[in-house]
Amino acid sequence: MSDKIGFIGLGNMGVPMAGRLLDAGNPLVVYDARESAISPFVERGAKAANSAADLASQVDTVFLSLPTPPIVEAVAFGDKGLAEGSQVKRIVDLSTTGPQMAETLAKKMQDKGVTWLDSPVSGGVGGAKAGTLAVMFSGPRADYDNLLPQLKAIGKPFYVSDKPGLAQTMKLVNNLLSAAAMALSSEAVAMGAKAGLSPDVMIDVINAGSGRNTATMQKFPQSILPGTFDYGFSSGLMFKDVKLFNEVAKSMGLSLPGCETVFNIWQDAVDKLGADSDFTKVVTLTEKAAGVSMRSDGATG
Ligand code: NAD
Repeated sequence: MSDKIGFIGLGNMGVPMAGRLLDAGNPLVVYDARESAISPFVERGAKAANSAADLASQVDTVFLSLPTPPIVEAVAFGDKGLAEGSQVKRIVDLSTTGPQMAETLAKKMQDKGVTWLDSPVSGGVGGAKAGTLAVMFSGPRADYDNLLPQLKAIGKPFYVSDKPGLAQTMKLVNNLLSAAAMALSSEAVAMGAKAGLSPDVMIDVINAGSGRNTATMQKFPQSILPGTFDYGFSSGLMFKDVKLFNEVAKSMGLSLPGCETVFNIWQDAVDKLGADSDFTKVVTLTEKAAGVSMRSDGATG
């Protein structure tokens, strides 16, 4: 694809993903609500836009990596939004926006002759830096094929469906498991610590055994055992994903008790730790309740 590319949302995920697109030889026009996020990209050769509309008047394809569904909607259809742009032909939403919003935005953009493609990602900031994200895609197959070089620059692309929003559903399925793994691993390690097991030993054993999951393999070793709590994903965004999952499940009449429990744990994390807290901090609530520490010996955090 030789179309011009824009990227909006230069946060924890957007910086490494846009950086990889740039490094792969795609000239980029970038925009973010924070001026400070834009200037490092200008120094790397990207062009700055002064609004989403300005960006959408300069490029054919726009990638989005924005926090929440209402923000995605505002960037698309709000004041100086993408819909006011004169050049844009397709929008690829890398954010976790949920299937309902994706369907709505796809329909509204279609009326303007713009194709909305949902392409949420999984694998965290580490995966975004390394280009190993799972990149889920739904929308017309021809758009997927055209965008493959860019999607491959970001990670491992999966064509999920031609139905708008279904890649978002796929992402919610994945993230309920990620949210549950984080919450339940905290409780498992807390019980072991209370009984006298070392957190380091527990994580080593679990990761060689059948209990291993992304929390024990990545979040504990990188951010919890050393006490840095710097994984790069907020409790607010984790709760948003579980909430979106719950909404979809309820709209289909499903009753999922485990999901309700995970929902309550993340609601509690947002209430007590704040939406901006790193989501690995959820362990501190379990630690407090159990009266244990899940830090490595000598950890400073
Ligand atoms: P973030 O909060 O770090 O970054 C969001 C960026 O969007 C910020 O730079 C912010 O300034 C910008 N922004 C906010 N409102 C804006 C607006 N109106 N106009 C322009 N820019 C605006 O979030 P993140 O962690 O990078 O996550 C982005 C998306 O990716 C979310 O939907 C999240 O659920 C999803 N996601 C995150 C991770 C992760 O590990 N962080 C992993 C997979 C998916």
